[in-house]
Amino acid sequence: MASATSAASSLSLLPSSRRHASSSPRLPLSLRLPRTHLVQSLSLHVAAGAARIVSGRAQRGSLRVVAMAKKSVSDLTLAELEGKRVFVRADLNVPLDENQNITDDTRIRAAVPTIKYLISNGAKVILSSHLGRPKGVTPKFSLSPLVPRLSELLGIKVEKADDCVGPEVEKLVSALPNGSVLLLENVRFYKEEEKNEPEFAKKLASLADLYVNDAFGTAHRAHASTEGVTKFLKPSVAGFLLQKELDYLVGAVSSPKRPFAAIVGGSKVSSKIGVIESLLEKCDILLLGGGMIFTFYKAQGLSVGSSLVEEDKLDLATSLMAKAKEKGVSLLLPTDVVVADKFAADAESKIVPASAIPDGWMGLDIGPDSIKTFNDALETTKTVIWNGPMGVFEFDQFATGTEAVAKKLAELSGKGVTTIIGGGDSVAAVEKVGVANVMSHISTGGGASLELLEGKELPGVNALDEASVSVAV
Ligand code: ATP
Repeated sequence: MASATSAASSLSLLPSSRRHASSSPRLPLSLRLPRTHLVQSLSLHVAAGAARIVSGRAQRGSLRVVAMAKKSVSDLTLAELEGKRVFVRADLNVPLDENQNITDDTRIRAAVPTIKYLISNGAKVILSSHLGRPKGVTPKFSLSPLVPRLSELLGIKVEKADDCVGPEVEKLVSALPNGSVLLLENVRFYKEEEKNEPEFAKKLASLADLYVNDAFGTAHRAHASTEGVTKFLKPSVAGFLLQKELDYLVGAVSSPKRPFAAIVGGSKVSSKIGVIESLLEKCDILLLGGGMIFTFYKAQGLSVGSSLVEEDKLDLATSLMAKAKEKGVSLLLPTDVVVADKFAADAESKIVPASAIPDGWMGLDIGPDSIKTFNDALETTKTVIWNGPMGVFEFDQFATGTEAVAKKLAELSGKGVTTIIGGGDSVAAVEKVGVANVMSHISTGGGASLELLEGKELPGVNALDEASVSVAV
């Protein structure tokens, strides 16, 4: 068992008293705080259930510790929202085709619960997002193509401004009725956004009375609309999506139902060091796949042919294996691999034991024995987090391992196992297999989810208001 199983204190999140009309996303029922808990982590997952903890424990009369938590949109009442101008930073960075059609509306749908909650409580929503990586005003990165879908999902006609600051926008804001939405133009049309320039943040903030950050995908960036505005708007609170991401990526991972397995794949061990180290503190089983396994094999003295290897990370691989042993974490490397004669979709391929990779061949997927071993290990778990594909899943003949993991996690989800897909390519894989809707949580932010899993603090979350929460220990 991992050493972090011992926790200093524990929390029970009791069912919400449902103070408000709209419902908040599903939350883990019990969260436990690990010994070395970051203040932020505490704030984050407690924020989601603040009302629950306080009301639930108050009934039992056992309040003993007052902790600081981030304030959530669900803490704002009708009286605090009705007629108020609310600046909502969402992540509406959806992919568009060459005809400006939305090819995946996941991010728009994910932003809807917070906006609906606000408009149903009579707020005037001033909605802000970036799209793409524009250099100055770039028409192809306008947010205009999002308006019809947003209006459809919200059931109201969304207005759109041609800018995100300035007198024209101010005029539109002042004409907003209660319960309406004004979509601002791409906030990254201004270079001041990413530079987090205070004057620009002040201009954005001047449009509103209070602030809601629901843009999890950019919460790891200190930009004007994610961090700067909080200096000028009170209260500044977390939206439902941000809250849910934190509940799972911080809450459920810090205090998992055990056994807890982490599956880490992807191309390089160097880009996942922080995640692996952090998960080694928490998990019971660690399954490794993807390109990074060859660095582990080589560190153990095996031949890896022409597989991807990071020569300068051999010592690191050895130390991670030693750390797993020391922590009592069962670290499983694939025992067989699918090797190819070249890096191509039509490469010749064969299955070989991990200890017998021929010269000139490269490993591009995990083999059938490994899939079986991984499935058997996963069968024993109660919580699983997955980040990074098991192979080069973009090529169909090397997608088997990744798809097998996706299918297994879907099956486990149906049996009540908490399954968390931590962003990036694993989300694409789960979507490709068509099982995204059955997972407990699919993160909407690759970079932000990695940083959270590494135990880092996110500036867009740190900047939000604290709320006092009573916690029983
Ligand atoms: P993202 O960076 O988008 O968040 P991720 O964290 O899920 O993605 P990455 O580290 O970027 O994962 O790795 C994904 C890439 O790893 C995929 O493009 C996949 O083709 C590649 N990959 C997986 N297995 C191998 C392998 N055996 N050899 C080379 N590349 C591999």
